[in-house]
Amino acid sequence: MLNFTFQNPTKIIFGKGTVSQLAEQVKPFGTRVLLVYGGGSIKRTGLYDKVIEQLKSIDAAVFELPGVEPNPRVTTVRKGIDICRKEDVQLILAVGGGSVIDAAKAIAVGVPYEGDVWDFFERKAQPASALPLGTILTLSATGSEANGNFVISNWELKLKRGSGSQHAYPRFSILDPELTYTVPREHVVNGIVDMMSHVFEQYFSKTPNTPLQERFCESILQTVIENAETALAKPTDYDARANIMWCGTMALNGGQISLGMQGDWATHEIEHQVSAIYDIAHGAGLAIIFPNWMKYVYKERVDRFVQYATRVWNIDPAGKSDEEVALAGIEATREFFTRIGAPATLSDVGIGDEHLDQMAAEAVRFGPIGQFKELHQEDVKEILRMSL
Ligand code: NAP
Ligand code: FE
Repeated sequence: MLNFTFQNPTKIIFGKGTVSQLAEQVKPFGTRVLLVYGGGSIKRTGLYDKVIEQLKSIDAAVFELPGVEPNPRVTTVRKGIDICRKEDVQLILAVGGGSVIDAAKAIAVGVPYEGDVWDFFERKAQPASALPLGTILTLSATGSEANGNFVISNWELKLKRGSGSQHAYPRFSILDPELTYTVPREHVVNGIVDMMSHVFEQYFSKTPNTPLQERFCESILQTVIENAETALAKPTDYDARANIMWCGTMALNGGQISLGMQGDWATHEIEHQVSAIYDIAHGAGLAIIFPNWMKYVYKERVDRFVQYATRVWNIDPAGKSDEEVALAGIEATREFFTRIGAPATLSDVGIGDEHLDQMAAEAVRFGPIGQFKELHQEDVKEILRMSL
């Protein structure tokens, strides 16, 4: 196990009806609030009215940034930064999924920064401080509600890049599983794939002697798998939605499940390049690419893939070689993604081979990616080619 330091400052308020606690959470930060939300789901579900009612009860001055796109854009982030500066905003409140929360984080770190916020994604600067941020999560997927990461697209440059900072952790996050009942099926699926992928990025590691971390990872995967089909078949099954929601947060809350392990994260980097050019949903891209990454790299450490196959998918190793067991685990992953309705190939989402070189080059722009197996441009291109 490697050395580590862990500090997660996000207060999590979980459960039915917890939006009623919003006013008391906001109050300590001040009453000038920027409300950030997406394309309108929170208005259709009535959540917007509940939020406004809470904010009114403390006489908050509410400024709004609606219209945050899935794959949020830096142009929208800049608009939010302008509002915060002009109106002396004291707290940013993100109400939505990962896209809304990520945009809110980029705004939060962008406000006190003198240069352009895109500098953080060019690695020209690191956030030194941030406006306080609170969230109400409406979609289980990214873990953004309890981590310091944010991913932003620059549509003009056709780039999608991540950044992260200890300053970007939300101060509080309200997680009410009932708020996820209205998420369209496709996005429930994308969210399930995303949270499982976050675990994969940490679990497939070469760091030896990390049995507790491995079991944390396996238990999240098993819990997601056990609850996914119920959550999809019965969108108002509270327990299934609650379990999925908690798995999404635990899967990526500052790396708590994999402390002392080296993570990989190559597949996320590759997926971002696909979303940057084709604007597909992150979870859809991961469902396509992850099993191909697994096939490309499993020989680096067959024993970890055997452990994955036997513990997570209950593959019976009797009469099989280690390699056969490992491959059966990868196949089970693909079958599960297909069973819940995720795409399996780039052509399933209308993508051909036109931009493979461009995506592969951009994925390694800051150097080779991945720790489980270091990937160079040609490796990334091959994984994308396998995904066609
Ligand atoms: P999302 O892009 O935030 O939302 C997807 C869609 O779901 C939107 O159209 C949204 O509509 C809708 N929606 C959300 N909640 C809903 C609800 N309760 N009812 C009905 N519709 C609802 O999806 P996401 O998967 O959470 O976020 C994806 C983004 O996060 C990607 O850009 C990805 O790269 C990034 N990401 C971040 C991290 C991180 O750690 N920060 C990790 C992985 C991925 P509205 O817009 O109308 O609300
Ligand atoms: Fe992700």
